[in-house]
Amino acid sequence: MSDSRETLAAELDQAFAELTPLERLTLLVERVEAPIVFTTSLGIEDQMLTHLIFTAKLPIVLKTLDTGRLFPESYTLWRETEEKYGRRIKAMYPQSEALEELVNDQGIDGFYYAPEFRKACCGVRKVEPLGRALAGAGGWITGLRRDQSANREGMEFVGYDAARGLIKANPLFDWTREEIRLFAEEAGVPVNPLHAQNFLSIGCAPCTRALQPGEPERAGRWWWEEETMRECGLHIEADGTVSRARLVPGHEHGDVAFERLAPGETPPKGPLA
Ligand code: SF4
Repeated sequence: MSDSRETLAAELDQAFAELTPLERLTLLVERVEAPIVFTTSLGIEDQMLTHLIFTAKLPIVLKTLDTGRLFPESYTLWRETEEKYGRRIKAMYPQSEALEELVNDQGIDGFYYAPEFRKACCGVRKVEPLGRALAGAGGWITGLRRDQSANREGMEFVGYDAARGLIKANPLFDWTREEIRLFAEEAGVPVNPLHAQNFLSIGCAPCTRALQPGEPERAGRWWWEEETMRECGLHIEADGTVSRARLVPGHEHGDVAFERLAPGETPPKGPLA
């Protein structure tokens, strides 16, 4: 199975270059073993794909990861999209016991305290549910674009995800944000109103901020981790181990700062721990 899927991924990758996004989606339906799952984050790229899939009535399953920390605007958009197209976007939720353990351990906003805590939160709220969302799927569609960030430049239209054993396709990979914005405007695609307030990449509310003029598109996500690295030189010690950080008291949301823990000091568990 993996050989044939790997070969098919390479074929589709070649074919995609000459096709429109709708033709790409149609080709995936024709060639990739069902079910094909599209994981939407309800961002503008994903809304364009949702529009194409629902309008053309393609047999692709839409799923979204409800982390429990999304913006109210994202929930409203979710409902409005289902109402407009008359199709369901299925929800994937974190496992309740794992979520309780996470929050009881690191606090409700533990992700601000250290990169490991953030990764743990993403693990429980996003990564594990994503695994279940894709279990048994032959194909996985995403709304990734090549120019979103430097670490996406090495990606391709279609690849074989060896870890999950499925074909991963990015039908908007060569589209720019502006092209997608124009498409959405002309086609009447519902989009998140936060985009108009300079929230370009929208994820969980506590981990997303609006961009300042000139900032790259992904700068509004987990911005404090980069700040921490840049200002304090934290996290990687001379022996290669990762050090921990704690929140500076009195911080305000959107202006989070950390300071280094003393050697051997216990990492914070959260404000009330
Ligand atoms: S983006 Fe933030 S709130 Fe959302 S899962 Fe990751 S750390 Fe948790």
